[in-house]
Amino acid sequence: MKQTVSKALYETAKKYFPGGVNSPVRAFKSVDGTPLFIKKGNGAYIWDEDDNEFIDFCGSWGPLILGHNHPAVYSKVVEALGNGSSFGAPTRLENELAELILTRNSFIDKLRFTSSGTEAVMSAIRLARGYTGRNKIVKFEGCYHGHSDALLVKAGSGLVTFGNSSSAGIPEAFVNETLVLPLNNKEAVEQCFAEYKDQIACVIIEPIPANNGLLLQEEGFLTFLREVCTANGALLFFDEVISGFRVAFGGATEHYGVIPDIVSYGKIIGGGLPVGAYGAKKEIMAQISPDGPVYQAGTLSGNPVAMAAGIAQLTELSKPGFYEDQKRRTHLFTDKINAHAKAKGYHFELVTIGSIYWISFDDSKRIRKSEDINPDMTGFKHLHRALLERGVYLGPSGYEVGFVSAAHTDEILEVAATRFIDALDAIMS
Ligand SMILES: *Cc1c(COP(=O)(O)O)cnc(C)c1O
Repeated sequence: MKQTVSKALYETAKKYFPGGVNSPVRAFKSVDGTPLFIKKGNGAYIWDEDDNEFIDFCGSWGPLILGHNHPAVYSKVVEALGNGSSFGAPTRLENELAELILTRNSFIDKLRFTSSGTEAVMSAIRLARGYTGRNKIVKFEGCYHGHSDALLVKAGSGLVTFGNSSSAGIPEAFVNETLVLPLNNKEAVEQCFAEYKDQIACVIIEPIPANNGLLLQEEGFLTFLREVCTANGALLFFDEVISGFRVAFGGATEHYGVIPDIVSYGKIIGGGLPVGAYGAKKEIMAQISPDGPVYQAGTLSGNPVAMAAGIAQLTELSKPGFYEDQKRRTHLFTDKINAHAKAKGYHFELVTIGSIYWISFDDSKRIRKSEDINPDMTGFKHLHRALLERGVYLGPSGYEVGFVSAAHTDEILEVAATRFIDALDAIMS
């Protein structure tokens, strides 16, 4: 695989940006490589600056559920851009995107759009504190909720990749307001509420934890959280930045049928442009400025071009059968690889939900919390490299999941599975 141009661009980028990147995981550190600079994407494919072609399973880390440069998204964005890029005043496009979401998610009455997932979660935490008049929040080890101070406490994603459990620069006093519990552990939750009774504003969780492996929770854990929160006057906060519009239009909330008080979205909601959102029932959202005392704002919030991309993408997702077909095609891919790994006796499994999969070099047990993950990522490093050489692009970290898009046809997935099996055989021998 030629990497001459990417390597030269990376050398230049290192002069301009810390680590040569604008988001840490992109630096390829955890796979001992250097990043590929991507020139373009179309459907299920991306091309790098050296003209290597890849079947892409990163999908910009989740947003591109329709694949790259989807025609409906492209034309809606161009149409919006033709009318100007930003006004700092309301546009009808905000109403349209909100209607698409709210008419299909009856547990939320109102939304606020932001420009990233981090911003949505950070703002909604403030809302939870403002609404309840309490300070403490509960999060789970192995869930990532963006990089705001309150939530960068033993978080997953890029952080685990670098072997840190939190970030420098966060005052101890902030961290003390965040209680971190192990996933899938009812006793820990009960103990926490016993100890901090009447102090907990909310319990935040990725209902499908997918930023630090894919830590699918046992049936009943989310229902249990719902009951505990209700009993203690704390809000249940589902961070659906990855799972929202991914496993179902109504996200994990629809998938599991457990109703949170607050929900946050990001990634897919913006159709590949920067959008986040948080929502709740109207009595909770009434706390948000200008209706209420919880302040939150954004110069580019509800940006019309970004709204247009979201509208076009969510319109496609709302068509009947979309999610069934996503799941069917994903299994076509993962079942074939898993059957091969099993037949060969490899300690290897693709863990799957909806159109998300995660590569686990361990087939012996269900992995539900972060300490269950084997920290030796040697297998992933070798597989990542072997796949790049065979024209398959994965996000460069063994803790990150892969995403199948609507552009990954049966035929493309067949080819991808064959390459995957070939790469697996090569690294296992
Ligand atoms: C990606 C992600 C975030 C952060 O969103 P950004 O847009 O990267 O700021 C927060 N929560 C979850 C669950 C995510 O997957």
